[in-house]
Amino acid sequence: MRSLEQVLKDGIRDIPDYPQAGVIFKDITPLLADNSGFAQVVEALAATGTDDDGRPVVDKVVGIEARGFILAAPVALALGAGFVPVRKKGKLPAATYEESYALEYGEATIEVHQDAFAPGDRVLIIDDVLATGGTIEACLRLIRRFEAEVHGTTVLLELSFLPGRERLSGEQLTALVTV
Ligand code: AMP
Repeated sequence: MRSLEQVLKDGIRDIPDYPQAGVIFKDITPLLADNSGFAQVVEALAATGTDDDGRPVVDKVVGIEARGFILAAPVALALGAGFVPVRKKGKLPAATYEESYALEYGEATIEVHQDAFAPGDRVLIIDDVLATGGTIEACLRLIRRFEAEVHGTTVLLELSFLPGRERLSGEQLTALVTV
């Protein structure tokens, strides 16, 4: 079996100047197309929602639109937890809470359904890439509106030249790989 490190190296490719000049986009589609690699990555992500004995300790797994959905749904199933989508504004059909955050140019807003969490739910947040941390910070603000407890945040890949980790200091943050 390949190491997790090798699977991630094989499965995440750099696309320069996408979606705009100067950005190196981390494309995970090769990883998603690699059945055994994808399974290995889901197992590693799910391990961050367990205790030292490997027992699941979360009730809900949050996926952030859009690539977070692809990763978080199988993690939720692996942990015997529910899946909760956090979506861009205007996409969720029932009553929502929303939080906005600054982008390099302009602002973005994410939403979650107002009945997404029950009191006492323990929550694991999953996304593909941690860049500036703005998205996950806004997601944490959304979850704080509930009487739920954030167990932690796990990303596939962390861009260490950006201040995401500092911004989320005080939160439990795991990256499967840091570049
Ligand atoms: P940020 O809020 O800056 O931490 O950005 C994180 C969100 O934007 C995640 O949902 C990522 O999917 C996406 N993202 C940001 N930078 C990149 C990148 N270089 N490659 C792929 N996705 C990115």
